[in-house]
Amino acid sequence: MTFDPETTTFLIAGPVRIHPRVLRAMSTPSLNHRGDYFHAVVQEVRDLLPVAFGTKGQQVVLTGSGTAGLEAVYSSLVPKDGRTVVVTNGNFGDRSEAIVRRYAPNVTTVRAPWGQGLPVDEVRAALEAGDVRAVCVVHNETSVGLVNDLGAIAPAVRQAGALFLVDGISAVAGIPLPIDRWGVDAVVAGSQKGLAAPAGLALVHLSERAVAALHPGTYYLDLAAHLTSLQKNDTPWTPAVPLFLALREALVLLREEGLERRLERTHRLAEAARAAAGALGLELFPDRRFASDTVTALRNPEGLGDPEVRKVLEREYNVLVQGGQGALVGKIFRLGHMGIADWPDLLVTFAALERVLSKHGRLPRPGAALAEVVARMP
Ligand code: PLP
Repeated sequence: MTFDPETTTFLIAGPVRIHPRVLRAMSTPSLNHRGDYFHAVVQEVRDLLPVAFGTKGQQVVLTGSGTAGLEAVYSSLVPKDGRTVVVTNGNFGDRSEAIVRRYAPNVTTVRAPWGQGLPVDEVRAALEAGDVRAVCVVHNETSVGLVNDLGAIAPAVRQAGALFLVDGISAVAGIPLPIDRWGVDAVVAGSQKGLAAPAGLALVHLSERAVAALHPGTYYLDLAAHLTSLQKNDTPWTPAVPLFLALREALVLLREEGLERRLERTHRLAEAARAAAGALGLELFPDRRFASDTVTALRNPEGLGDPEVRKVLEREYNVLVQGGQGALVGKIFRLGHMGIADWPDLLVTFAALERVLSKHGRLPRPGAALAEVVARMP
């Protein structure tokens, strides 16, 4: 079997598989983005955004990938005076740090090794040192398959009076994020992850406090300009029209399933993936207590690297999973099971993994991984 994008079992950590309804929604002739038809699309998208974030608020859609959303938030919300704290325990935390350092003059980075849990005590200590105006943190660290327990730092962030700015790119619609309860001021989502729309849009939720604190950041991604235009169901510049059409359909699909049910299904898939990996003798990369529900990161089996595992899955079985990033290239591989990923995807992937390991004489209990998946199916 050779790789075929039309029929592949597609479990990379985003972009994720896209429903045919969402694909079809994009196939329209050009639309006037200043015309009534498109304004109605934008109105519908605005009405549907709370379904994704689980709360109402000031919410915008930006043309650009997730990083555009992060740049919009950091450039217009990290303070010119006072300190900004950035927390990192993975590649995307490091990315946030790099963006924040472009805009904030006084940055304190709180670091934990990749794959280890949120350094809660260090974050509290950084806040207690005083004068912190913003805290920037990744909710789900896609690079290492780890979820940061933001609830553990939320009260301290609130008490410090700092803005709480969250990269939720691979978490939104995949991992519960009680925005209002935790007092989160900004959340960035990416269209290509839990929402299962194509890549290319960033969704941003802002609290009233954040809206009041906006200052001009980048020109293209000026959040105040986007908010003002959106009130008229418009966008300040030409938007990626086909992607808005796709996003609308993806959000309708999410509404049909319901956010709670999607979160629950994603959680069950993650539990099944972890149990099946365990049955294959594969070790989780992150601290198990913080294993992500949207991305499972596994160490490559001893002595087998990408050419023996990931590439064979792709070439022989038409199964796509993702490799490691940075220092983890060749050391781990990652399964993304968010959005519309479902049981058949896991069954095919673990069947293929069983076969790969078996050919290397490394399958301890044939059928055991599949049994773990089956046992968790509804
Ligand atoms: N932050 C996190 C947690 C991510 O998972 C990603 C992408 O995988 C990004 C930031 C960057 O998003 P994009 O590649 O859409 O710009």
